[in-house]
Amino acid sequence: MSTQPPDGGVVVVDPATYGVVHPIDLYLRCPHCGRVAQPTSLDYAVADRESHTIDERRHVEARCPVCHQLFDARGHWVAADDQITCTRCGAHSPAAAEAVRARCFQCNLFNFGPGLKTQQERTAFAAVEALEQRRMLHRLLPGRFPNPPGNEESYDRRR
Ligand SMILES: [Zn+2]
Ligand SMILES: [Zn+2]
Repeated sequence: MSTQPPDGGVVVVDPATYGVVHPIDLYLRCPHCGRVAQPTSLDYAVADRESHTIDERRHVEARCPVCHQLFDARGHWVAADDQITCTRCGAHSPAAAEAVRARCFQCNLFNFGPGLKTQQERTAFAAVEALEQRRMLHRLLPGRFPNPPGNEESYDRRR
């Protein structure tokens, strides 16, 4: 959790209080698409190297793995209060109960998260992921990847 020391010093986020060890494994709720997952990237100032804590006085920039947009991660942390069983290696890893994707801490496979309970939900989400992937490719390389259907509204304004 975020803690504000009485001396008004560093505002710190400790991944351990959210059930993970490293900041990149922290779960976030994306303010753009509302989905909970671990970020594709996380740029932050280190508060303390030993404890892997984040200094929240500075901007913490995360990229959503679903809609691929950037956002300020502060205030969007979600605790890993559930777990997944990896479909590849069978290991258990902590995961947020609402997560759509969850990394296996043993073999690194991104499993479906506990938030997707049924096969129907998982199939529907995989289709969303595929569409967002095509949107991102179009944004990065418009000459090579056509604008996917349903994306007439300009994606270029996104960061
Ligand atoms: Zn998103
Ligand atoms: Zn695994």
